[in-house]
Amino acid sequence: MISRIKGTQDFLDLRLFNFLIDSTKKYLQSFNFIEIATTIIEPLELFKRSLGVETDVITKEMYVVQSTSETEDRICLRPEATASIMRAFIENGAQTTPWKVFSWGPMFRHERPQKGRYRQFHQITMEIIGSQSTAQDVYFITMLDRFFHERVSLINYALLINFLGCSEDRAAFKKILHEFLEKHTAQICENCMRRKETNIMRVFDCKVPTCQELYRSAPHIADNLCGTCSAEWEQIKTMLEQLSVTFSYAPSLVRGLDYYSKTVFEFVSTELGAQNAFCGGGRYDQLAQLIGARTDQPSIGAAIGIERILLLLEKVQNKLPITTLPSLHVIIPVFKEQQMLALLIADELHAQNIATEILLEGDSLKSMLRKANKLGAQNCIIIGEEEQKTHTVKLKNMTTGQEEQIAQAALIKKLKN
Ligand code: AMP
Repeated sequence: MISRIKGTQDFLDLRLFNFLIDSTKKYLQSFNFIEIATTIIEPLELFKRSLGVETDVITKEMYVVQSTSETEDRICLRPEATASIMRAFIENGAQTTPWKVFSWGPMFRHERPQKGRYRQFHQITMEIIGSQSTAQDVYFITMLDRFFHERVSLINYALLINFLGCSEDRAAFKKILHEFLEKHTAQICENCMRRKETNIMRVFDCKVPTCQELYRSAPHIADNLCGTCSAEWEQIKTMLEQLSVTFSYAPSLVRGLDYYSKTVFEFVSTELGAQNAFCGGGRYDQLAQLIGARTDQPSIGAAIGIERILLLLEKVQNKLPITTLPSLHVIIPVFKEQQMLALLIADELHAQNIATEILLEGDSLKSMLRKANKLGAQNCIIIGEEEQKTHTVKLKNMTTGQEEQIAQAALIKKLKN
């Protein structure tokens, strides 16, 4: 038996998944986002340059595809879509900005699998490329918050926000943080000792209790911003408050990837366990240049982790307007001799968009009725020798158990009523 690859999962019931995708699409389109699709395989270099060579995603989690020729760029499976969307923006020539787009699909990261953490998972990614207005950050975050609360009825979640400043702010802050860590080397774990030199902001993501304890008294970037950034940060908080968006300032939220600047945020839920973020995003004003564009494109984006939000939606699904499947009518040819007639009747019903199934595997009438019941049939259309001879069918209502003999010619009208 060949099993699925560790950290992946099969979806055998896509109703909630599709509900989420459909609702997000409709919602984002009402905010003037257009749907795009970028490639799943990308040059490895794209992510090395954008996410940063010292990030966990690049050092440990990339799926690199075996190259067939030495001249070919090294190819990987995308671990996220923002860099791809920015690549598509640059590569496909000028688009009117702000370019508001969204996309969804599978992402791949070789992480240690656990609840809510997979090696193949799905994200809905939305981006506004080419907008530097802080009001845009507020508009974007509010849009997401309203979606979670009002459109998909989530209640137990929190919005965490931090402000990482401009690149100058971060360069200056890294020195301040370095000095702080140097003073406390005895209290920090081996990993943080390494992060201190390679990707210092990531120390805040450390899960070791002694490190976490220490970082509570560490300096915060939002307290070390330049005048412009400080004013922007204040403005964002004030505007969110005016729009009644509840949020918590999370001074140690840095998000793992190098391309973030200024606003970063996460939507988290305690119902998810250790992997508690179901949506994360922020500004990435320098990403365009990181991947080779001549000019920067101030931008903001976010990704919703589909598997994680589905875990939350499962709990509230009875409150959601998930469309039920159309009522199914099951044709039962009692013997092989009635199968051709069953095919002809099914053909007519399908032409009228009436959801129909035929039981063609043959069995006793009793077992076929049981099977139809399992399929959730509203009616069974039973065709035996007698019905074939008299051009009728026996229509059995599976809820009431009532049976009536009707002419085959009257069937469509009857089912449509
Ligand atoms: P990121 O691209 O790391 O900012 O992640 C955005 C969102 O994608 C997270 O908030 C998660 O909900 C989801 N996510 C990230 N990594 C995984 C994973 N390995 N498995 C499932 N969901 C993930």
